[in-house]
Amino acid sequence: MLVALGAIGSQAPRRPISLLVVGGIVVTENGSHRVLSPGAVAIDGSAIAAVDTPDSIASRFTAAETIDARDQVIMPGLINTHTHAPMVMYRGLADDLALMEWLQKYIFPAEAKTVSPEMVRIGTRLAALEMIESGTTTYADMYYFEEEIARTTREAGLRGVLGQTILQFPVADAKTPAEGLARTEAFIREFKGDSLIVPAVAPHAMYTNDRATLVACAALARKYNVPLITHLAETEDEVRIAREQHQSTPTAYLESIGFWGPRTLAAHGVWVTDEDIQVLKKHDVGVAHNPESNMKLASGIAPVTKYLRAGVAVGLGTDGAASNNDLDMFEAMRQAAFLAKLATKDPTAVPAQTALDMATIGGARALGMAQDIGSLEAGKRADLIIVSMAAPRQTPMYDPVSHLVYVTRGDDVRTTIVNGKVLMNDRQVLTLNRATVIADANRLAQKVREAVRR
Ligand SMILES: [Zn+2]
Repeated sequence: MLVALGAIGSQAPRRPISLLVVGGIVVTENGSHRVLSPGAVAIDGSAIAAVDTPDSIASRFTAAETIDARDQVIMPGLINTHTHAPMVMYRGLADDLALMEWLQKYIFPAEAKTVSPEMVRIGTRLAALEMIESGTTTYADMYYFEEEIARTTREAGLRGVLGQTILQFPVADAKTPAEGLARTEAFIREFKGDSLIVPAVAPHAMYTNDRATLVACAALARKYNVPLITHLAETEDEVRIAREQHQSTPTAYLESIGFWGPRTLAAHGVWVTDEDIQVLKKHDVGVAHNPESNMKLASGIAPVTKYLRAGVAVGLGTDGAASNNDLDMFEAMRQAAFLAKLATKDPTAVPAQTALDMATIGGARALGMAQDIGSLEAGKRADLIIVSMAAPRQTPMYDPVSHLVYVTRGDDVRTTIVNGKVLMNDRQVLTLNRATVIADANRLAQKVREAVRR
């Protein structure tokens, strides 16, 4: 009798949920780096309901839809903490140059002639397609017409921390910084509270904005409690400018004008002193590390191990596709690990687990979103990817974390889920028409080519 009662007790009604992902190796990226082999993830609406063994999940939940992830890895979606999505349209347009020459002779002029709401929509669709296909579920952006980027991102189903760029000189969407600030405020009002889009203020850099503009940007971000994003200490040229104009490092100058605060994100942070690192730590500034862009533009090597040792939240970024030239975060992980080892002559610098952390939970922390994304844990948003481990280059597999960083490519991602919604199912992107997106981009590229030639 007691036994029977026990059996009845264990068969409590199972909770109906929307989606189950079962049977794969679950790399949770939780606080103890738990890996379940096999494991399962229960998703209810936009949230993760539970992460556990397949038996436990099966006894507690009944799902409207089930995805079989056998022989694959289930992991948090990747977080690209720094890019300029529409710049995929300038992919391969001007390579093998240093940042200042590349920006001033090629990119700024090309942008002056070709950036428009249409260009931004077409470029963002292409970038979103590439990100969904390579496992990025959240990205931080800085560009023009950011409201168009936000609408397109929402249609594609991706999560975005999207910063309207502000510059001192006239740009495609604003003749003056004041106009840029007004645009940014309207943008924040339109998207604040959105389930996928976090609007942000993005002054381009300390050397492309004057003090008054930088202060106004920080004030606007604080007024609405939204992120403030900027490029920081990317090149030695920037450090020279800061020394000449402000007798200070870029980081210290920005501190002296009250720029730093919670919810600030600094992209690059290559040329920083130990004191600068302490300043960034003191103000809880997140750092977006972009190893591929820094290498390609020969900007320098960010002191990632020093940041991590100081307790600074470090995420990974690809930077815009014009300086990478792709948005594959798996490659960013691998390069981050390799570059740190080479720079410190220490093969234990940035091990695979640390590189994976930076691309997931570290990126979430850098963006101030670790309560919602970055790991597979009950209560967080259901942003996850399923990655094939069947390629010859992935065989055999002793350690899934090693494989995710050292041999996996974006193309190995089979399924991408954001906010509980399947954006790509077994390589079929469901929210964008792949052929149309690529054809539109190729058509627009003709205009870019003609504009740059003139
Ligand atoms: Zn950038």
